[in-house]
Amino acid sequence: MARHESILGTVGHTPVVRINRLAPEHVNLWAKVEAFNPLGSIKDRLALGIIRAAEASGELRPGQTVVEATSGNTGIGLAMVCAATGHPLVVVMAESFSVERRRLMRFLGARVVLTPAPLRATGMVQKAVELAREHGWFYARQFENPANPDIHERTTAREIMEDFRGERLDYFVVGYGTGGTLNGVSRVLARESPATRIVVCEPADAPLLGSGAPQARNPDGSAATGHPAWKPHPMQGWTPDFIPKIAGDVDRSRIHQVLPIAGPDALRCSQELAAREGIFVGITSGATMAGALAVARDAPRGSNILCMLPDTGERYLSTPLFASVASDMTEEEEAIFASTPFGRKAA
Ligand code: PMP
Repeated sequence: MARHESILGTVGHTPVVRINRLAPEHVNLWAKVEAFNPLGSIKDRLALGIIRAAEASGELRPGQTVVEATSGNTGIGLAMVCAATGHPLVVVMAESFSVERRRLMRFLGARVVLTPAPLRATGMVQKAVELAREHGWFYARQFENPANPDIHERTTAREIMEDFRGERLDYFVVGYGTGGTLNGVSRVLARESPATRIVVCEPADAPLLGSGAPQARNPDGSAATGHPAWKPHPMQGWTPDFIPKIAGDVDRSRIHQVLPIAGPDALRCSQELAAREGIFVGITSGATMAGALAVARDAPRGSNILCMLPDTGERYLSTPLFASVASDMTEEEEAIFASTPFGRKAA
């Protein structure tokens, strides 16, 4: 327990937790639970990293408005950081993402501008670029900003090295949205733990890396068009319809394996993490765990496998993750109710 000068001091330092009941016995499976961040996701790190770097460079002036295109977690993290640092925030988000995300950001004082779902991630980005240009706002550019991988190099990766000090880390399993986590952590692993195999998961419906097809880019590295292998997928926060510069910059020879994850496996693993491990996390966490379990099956005895669990499950109540969860009493619950006299209706 510690005292902090503001909520910003509580970002990061997330726990690594052993997976006991879901993991096969011959390996040690570990999960880094990013839901412990103040606003419940790994993107709190990026939000703090980008705002602090822009303040330090003078690119962001006191009280200047921040604008960003985000599927949600970045917006929520930025809303928290902007609230604590006194910057107004405008978030641009496709209307296809879950409604609780929009309301959360507005609750934190941000304004949320919705773009049509068919325009996808590239449409959100285009709108944010225009708004920044038109109004002189600071555009956070999570997909290209070097402060994104840098914060993972300085925090996420350092925490991992610390937590596995004196031990082998055989596999690091991760997905990508911007690729900030993958890029920043893999830099440190390359230098300090080169034997660690990096396994990158992506949706089976959108195997952008796995397809081998290149990404068309603008001179600044941003995506010029959508990627041909992209299709809609349920892993909100993973794999936009282009390969971000930060993900594309990762040396492919450092990536041991690219694993396609099926949507239903992601949902099932998220549910099983909750019901069998007590770890309440979102869809991309379930997807990463599905990848880690596949790695675990073939891994040598005694392997240490670490996977990232990027956010809390609380963010998905209105999504397919909760589709099969009843709100009325189930037959089984009715039977439990009826098993004692109290409250039972007179026949
Ligand atoms: N999972 C979720 C739920 C996310 O919001 C994100 C970030 N978009 C990621 C995974 C991937 O993180 P990164 O941007 O560092 O690749």
